[in-house]
Amino acid sequence: MTGTTSPSASAFMVNAFWLSSPGLTAVFDAIEPVGRIRVVGGAVRNAILGEAISDIDLATEAEPHEVAAAAQKAGIRVHETGIEHGTLTLVADRIAYEVTTLREDVSTDGRRATVRFTRDWSLDAERRDFTMNALYLDRYGRGLDTVGGYADCLARRVRFIGDADQRIVEDHLRILRFFRFNAAYGRGPLDPAGLDATRRHKARIADLAAERICHEVMRIVVAQNAGNVLGLIGAEGFLDGFLPGPYNVDAYRALAGLERRAGREPTPALAIAALLNFDEAAFQSAADALKFSRRDRARALDAMAASRGMPPLSVPQTHALLYEHGTEAFVDGLLVGAARGADIIDLPHLVTAARQWRRPRLPVSGTDLLEQGGAPGPELGERLAHLEKVWRQSDFMLDKAHLLAIDRQLRQPKD
Ligand code: ATP
Ligand code: MG
Repeated sequence: MTGTTSPSASAFMVNAFWLSSPGLTAVFDAIEPVGRIRVVGGAVRNAILGEAISDIDLATEAEPHEVAAAAQKAGIRVHETGIEHGTLTLVADRIAYEVTTLREDVSTDGRRATVRFTRDWSLDAERRDFTMNALYLDRYGRGLDTVGGYADCLARRVRFIGDADQRIVEDHLRILRFFRFNAAYGRGPLDPAGLDATRRHKARIADLAAERICHEVMRIVVAQNAGNVLGLIGAEGFLDGFLPGPYNVDAYRALAGLERRAGREPTPALAIAALLNFDEAAFQSAADALKFSRRDRARALDAMAASRGMPPLSVPQTHALLYEHGTEAFVDGLLVGAARGADIIDLPHLVTAARQWRRPRLPVSGTDLLEQGGAPGPELGERLAHLEKVWRQSDFMLDKAHLLAIDRQLRQPKD
């Protein structure tokens, strides 16, 4: 069967400049001879909403071996990393496109699905999660909607396709995806049917791998409108055992706002620390439960440590804090400090100064000191440490000659 559309399918149009980009054009040209191919998922949704797109996923009637052969024939590089799920990555004009053969679910167990290929676009749509994520676009911007997703997308309504309970039982990650897409694209109250289903099945989140939960949580906290959704997640205990609530949503909002005003997107690990009211013990146990990377854990702990010195009371103290913590933790500490209520009047100026700061280097080395006498070993370490302390206290002003003079003075035999 070749069914392109179900009887209820409806059409829409989208004008997106990237549809005629050289890479995507090359992909369409290469694959169309072996099967219809359309853009699907996030790129379509974001184009409708007028938001930036991250990557372009495509769906096609052609089977993976046909896609691979057609792409290779057209001189497009093919990576077969996801081939067992029907996905190939095509690199055209140095951009990666994921091309997946239309699929339907054969069986699901809450964590993974067994699929089979189909040529029916409405079956492929039905195995996706939310109506706004199941929209297709051909190369001319002509849309295909078999699930009523276009109207939902325009209304920013995140609605499960089909029966919400069943969709969550099939894949428990969809509970968190429901919150993520609401946080990122939703408007108004959450869809009651979806919300009630997530409530009924919230215990199933614990069946998921911690890394997958962590990945979703980190994407929720950086979403534009995460505040209300996070309040709900915390108050209703959706992440008990991982990130227990209730959360300090005010601190979270304050920090996210400060980060955006400082010209950057919210940092997931810092956002999570804010939700936990910057309580280091609570943060540590959440980081354990969610299997944070070493980097993410250190990022938040360093920020919380640096924030205790904020605001710096003088220029030399600013330099000392920068020297102790480094630029990243200093700026993080400033923002965390401000979110915690520290009165930092000249925040933008301090952020700029920190970004321009270059770490000074102690102007003397062990070799320099040995030339003045003494032997390598712990004693030399102490001499260096002492000079570094004096140098720091001088606001890093003392030069090599001064420091060597101080060392000589200290080494003079006392009588
Ligand atoms: P983003 O901009 O965040 O990448 P996206 O919609 O592209 O958003 P992905 O997680 O990249 O999200 O997934 C791509 C598409 O695959 C989704 O739009 C959706 O149609 C489908 N999808 C992904 N994960 C699931 C899932 N767990 N259940 C059902 N469909 C899913
Ligand atoms: Mg995507």
